[in-house]
Amino acid sequence: MKNRKLLMIPGPIEFEPEVLRAMGMATTSHVAPNFIETFGKSLEMMRDIWMAPNGQPFIVAGTGTLAMDMAAANLIERGDNALVISTGYFGKRFKDILDRYGANTTILESNVGEIVPIDAIEKELSSKQFKVLTITHVDTSTGVLVDPKPIAELARKYNVLCILDGVCSVAGEEIKQEEWGIDVVLTGSQKAIGVPPGLALLVASQKAMEVWENRRTPVSSYYSDWNNWLPIMRAYEERRSSYFGTPAVNLIVALETSLKIIGAEKIANRVEKNKKLAEAFRAGIKALNLEILPKTEEIAANTLSAIYYPKDIDGAELRSRIAHYNIIVAGGLLSEIKASYFRIGHMGSVSSNDLISVLSALEMALLELGHSFESGKGLQAFQDNLLASNEKLSTV
Ligand code: PMP
Repeated sequence: MKNRKLLMIPGPIEFEPEVLRAMGMATTSHVAPNFIETFGKSLEMMRDIWMAPNGQPFIVAGTGTLAMDMAAANLIERGDNALVISTGYFGKRFKDILDRYGANTTILESNVGEIVPIDAIEKELSSKQFKVLTITHVDTSTGVLVDPKPIAELARKYNVLCILDGVCSVAGEEIKQEEWGIDVVLTGSQKAIGVPPGLALLVASQKAMEVWENRRTPVSSYYSDWNNWLPIMRAYEERRSSYFGTPAVNLIVALETSLKIIGAEKIANRVEKNKKLAEAFRAGIKALNLEILPKTEEIAANTLSAIYYPKDIDGAELRSRIAHYNIIVAGGLLSEIKASYFRIGHMGSVSSNDLISVLSALEMALLELGHSFESGKGLQAFQDNLLASNEKLSTV
């Protein structure tokens, strides 16, 4: 395709042509039988992807931030204690949102490129009764991956609701919401779910719904209030029409298409494939004498990589040279180090072909700018790593 650019930022991502075609379908009424079926089916499929067979799914027009807002607005009452476990920019955003609804928020912030030690989390939880804690599964500003499982266990031990910001992880990293006992897992459509921006997606546990039902005070956000949205979700799942705010018809048709694609591949296979590609990609990056932001492999996200620029290279110049080879990557986001790193998204239907193109463009741009490494090493490391993991798979 002439002039085709590969969008490799951490959301929005490259979307499947089938999903984009679904977006372009003639818009039907939001109460038409075909749309009622699409909406109902999408809610059902979310439970499979989130691995929350008894969870309550919500699909609402908005972005990932609205899903965060919805969790906070419905679960927080003025004066409640909240604990934010932060590994970057989006942890701080959750604190701002919780504070806005009157929470008394404590934030535990990791060092850049690290996670918050589990002991520090337990120490905080044992110091007073918290109502909720939040985890950013993958903070898109740092590319750090947090293992939510042991934190969710602690939340259960201390009777705290556990909210997972999965905007950069749902359908890209392993999540077993119900088995791990997570009360809310939320995301936005434009990331690993694979649908253009515009949908806030959230699944709440039965426990979260009970806590919400037993509130002493009304939810102070009108648009986010589950009182408005729960009857709508229930109606569509029972294949009845209902109305509160006009659903984003075309986006939901696209969502059904994408969830079917993910479902056909099976979520566990998709996550595994993504992990393999990400590991090979990181091997390629390191072979170019580049340093990634997460301090260890174990906490490096599989949905994106945050990479430091070489010391002697101008970041904006590097990104513009990569763009010259038709690959679009993102700059830094974390204010303290914004100018010293860049980010490459690799989630959704990303393929080895995409990553080969990215590594090749990156190599050429680095060579042009005089960075020292052996030409071809990045691609070689990527291929070797992928071959080795394929071999491992075939012998299992
Ligand atoms: N949380 C995380 C981890 C994110 O990556 C983002 C978006 N980059 C958000 C929240 C906010 O989502 P949105 O931009 O869709 O509002």
